[in-house]
Amino acid sequence: MPIPLSLHLFIHFILAVLAGLSVGHYFNKAKLGVIAGVVGGFLIDLDHVLEYFFTFGLHFNLPYFLTGRGFLISNKIFLVFHAWEYIPILLIAAWLLRRRKNISIFLLALTFGAMVHMTSDCFLNNYPPRNYSIIYRAAKGFNASLLLSPSQQELNTELKRGLNL
Ligand SMILES: [Zn+2]
Repeated sequence: MPIPLSLHLFIHFILAVLAGLSVGHYFNKAKLGVIAGVVGGFLIDLDHVLEYFFTFGLHFNLPYFLTGRGFLISNKIFLVFHAWEYIPILLIAAWLLRRRKNISIFLLALTFGAMVHMTSDCFLNNYPPRNYSIIYRAAKGFNASLLLSPSQQELNTELKRGLNL
């Protein structure tokens, strides 16, 4: 049984602050770390908003949005910000920019926040880690039916019925 969205987001927010704080504290830049941690570990979920508009266009419907299940209609899971592939790219960028201290620390805290976010998503959503690989999702044509487990699909079919979709 999935946990309520508000609790899911609250967990993400707390973990994002802690992830950012730990990196920031290490470099004596706590505030910068927390901001970057929240961007990487919480605002990463803004791709759900993009996905929503992709599916429903500009007809905003709050209940549909809050169910977070635009893919019930589109049957597609893009989630462009959720990808392990960005981690090494961001780490290399942080290293290349190591002389620009603040940018480098920002990138490190953002990266750590994103890693913590996707790891906790695996547990909270009960998805295998490979679902958070954008290459894997692309290989499956971003097709929700190929990415979700049969029991998750069953749950979604029930939700769909409940929402009269
Ligand atoms: Zn997420």
